[in-house]
Amino acid sequence: MLIGSPWGFAPPPPGSSVPSSFGREAHDVGPGSPVALVTDERLLLHAGPSNHPERPARLAEILKQLEISGLSAACVQLSSREATQEELLRVHSQEHIDQVFNSASSKKKGKAYGTPFGPDTYANDETPLCASLSTGCLLSLVDKCLEKGDGPRCGFAAIRPPGHHATVDKASGFCMFNNVAVAVRQAQQVHGLKRVAVVDWDVHHGNGTNDIFEKDESVLFFSLHRYDSYFFPGTGFVEDVGKAEGRGYNVNCPLDKGFGDLDVAHVMRSLAEWRYLICPLMEKFEPEAIFISAGFDAVPGIRQKGGKRSDGPDGPAISNGASGDT
Ligand SMILES: [Zn+2]
Repeated sequence: MLIGSPWGFAPPPPGSSVPSSFGREAHDVGPGSPVALVTDERLLLHAGPSNHPERPARLAEILKQLEISGLSAACVQLSSREATQEELLRVHSQEHIDQVFNSASSKKKGKAYGTPFGPDTYANDETPLCASLSTGCLLSLVDKCLEKGDGPRCGFAAIRPPGHHATVDKASGFCMFNNVAVAVRQAQQVHGLKRVAVVDWDVHHGNGTNDIFEKDESVLFFSLHRYDSYFFPGTGFVEDVGKAEGRGYNVNCPLDKGFGDLDVAHVMRSLAEWRYLICPLMEKFEPEAIFISAGFDAVPGIRQKGGKRSDGPDGPAISNGASGDT
């Protein structure tokens, strides 16, 4: 299955015994350790058609539930900030950055938004600010979690617009800047991390993140997604394992339409506690940080393009309640 894989292992056969833990403890993350939370209510200002699947209500509901549950108060709340040009340029071309910052001008007369990046990907007057804030929130989280001291070592960024479809020079699939890719470069270039993993469990393939890191052996990109010829973005087949030095470091796990909790658990770690795919990869790669692109549009009731109800998975609880690219 892992064509071109440098990992040199095969999934354990049924009945074999494999240790149930992750192998080693993250010495400063565990029960009772602080969790950081970052968001910004201004991220609700990025808006397009009222029936668009990626709309402010998605984030508003997450923020509401974080408050009601008490989780918000239980976390270490961080200040938001905008990403700088220097930070965005670690991933994106100057031309692309300029296009996003000029996207508000695409508005048609009498309309509150335009569609400068194709019919799906709208922009309004606040999109440049929100795109920069979305990435900047994640950078704020990275800086906090990687600073020395007794502070949080893990956290959650509730942000939009999402990022995992954005490539070096193109916005698409509602995504402006590839938030997680910029955050990975921050971890590496500012904080000196050598190996970083990205796990993308959104129902769509994270094609932008895939392409940005496809030649990079310092970033293990793992994507679990629905794959068929008519489901956006139509990439992420199992043979896509990366290129050149990065060959083997892109791991795509396409699943059929209708996959559910058990399938996700099987990929992540089977219910029988055999570590099938992702855990062995992580143990071999030994990442110094793990980012999760936690798109939540696999959940039943989330409307997809054209206002149709999600017809992807049955609704994996594992991906419930997280934001687009965190
Ligand atoms: Zn998605």
